[in-house]
Amino acid sequence: MIKICVSCNSTWAGGQTCEDCGGQLRETFDGDAQSFPKGIWGYIRLQYGARRGMLVRVMALILGPVAGALLLRASFALAMPWLVFGAIGAVLAGVVVWWAIHWLAGRAVKLWVLRKGQLSKRKLARAMLKRATRR
Ligand SMILES: [Zn+2]
Repeated sequence: MIKICVSCNSTWAGGQTCEDCGGQLRETFDGDAQSFPKGIWGYIRLQYGARRGMLVRVMALILGPVAGALLLRASFALAMPWLVFGAIGAVLAGVVVWWAIHWLAGRAVKLWVLRKGQLSKRKLARAMLKRATRR
């Protein structure tokens, strides 16, 4: 949960008071969160996107070895020459599972953050255009 200082607008991972100015920290999903400056939202989105990507990477660190171990156990049912190939394949599969999820997490974070950033930029451009044509 990301918290925000009501007096200087710095963001913090938690706690009750701001370490910069000692102001009160608010949760970003409070009712009055709408009054926060726009720039803060981009930062919060980035933080949440990065955090989500980190969670997926942690999942990859668990799922990779689990997939490898399951395949390794299955390969022990094979006859001797194939057992070796099966074991090597199982370890490789575990690494591939880990790497694939890890790589996808990085891509996903970029997509989440960038796409939303572009969207608000387009909105901003439209708002500026509206203001310019009004004159
Ligand atoms: Zn502060």
